[in-house]
Amino acid sequence: MGTKDVPPSIDTIPSSFVQFAIADKVIALGRANSLWPLTFGIACCAIEMMCTGAARFDLSRFGAEVFRPSPRQSDLMIVAGTISNKMAPGIKTLYDQMPEPKWVIALGNCAISGGPFVFEGQYGIVEGADKFLPVDVYVPGCPPRPEALIEGIIELEHKITGWRRWPKVKPEWRESGSDES
Ligand code: SF4
Repeated sequence: MGTKDVPPSIDTIPSSFVQFAIADKVIALGRANSLWPLTFGIACCAIEMMCTGAARFDLSRFGAEVFRPSPRQSDLMIVAGTISNKMAPGIKTLYDQMPEPKWVIALGNCAISGGPFVFEGQYGIVEGADKFLPVDVYVPGCPPRPEALIEGIIELEHKITGWRRWPKVKPEWRESGSDES
C-alpha cells in the first residue's frame, strides 16, 4: 500500500458566489435551534454546564441538549473552566476538528479572563479563551448559573439568526430610574 499526490480538482467557489436570502434564513434558523455542543469540560464551570442539560433546566427546550462525544459532530464549543497552558493546545486541536460553521461560548470568569487565578507572576493559566479561539459569547460568573448559560445560548441564537426568542429582561435598578449600582 502506498500514497499518491492528487492534484486539486477545482478552484474553491466563494460561499457568497450565489445567495438565496430565504434559504439562508431558514438554514440559520435550523442551525440556531439545533446547536450541538461538544462534550467537554475543564474545571468547576463544567458542573454548571452539566446541570444545564439536566431535567431541572432542560436545555432541550432550546434544541441544544445533544452534547456530542466527537468534535467532528459538534458545532458549539462551550469552554467551561480554567484553561491551563498545558490544556490550551488540546483545546485548540478540538476546535480545529469541528466542522464549519462553528461557535464558541466562554463560560465563566476563567474562560473569559483567567478568573481568580490571575495574579502577578502566574505562569500556568491562559488568561481567556479568546487568546487563541474566536469567542462569540461571554457568560460571566464564578461559576455562572445554568440560567446564565441558557441566556448565553439564546444570545448565540440571536447572533446566528438576527432574531431573539424573547426580549431582554431589564435589570430592576434601571426600571426604577436609578443609575447607581
Ligand atoms: S470561573 Fe470559578 S467556577 Fe468557573 S472554572 Fe473558574 S474558578 Fe471554577
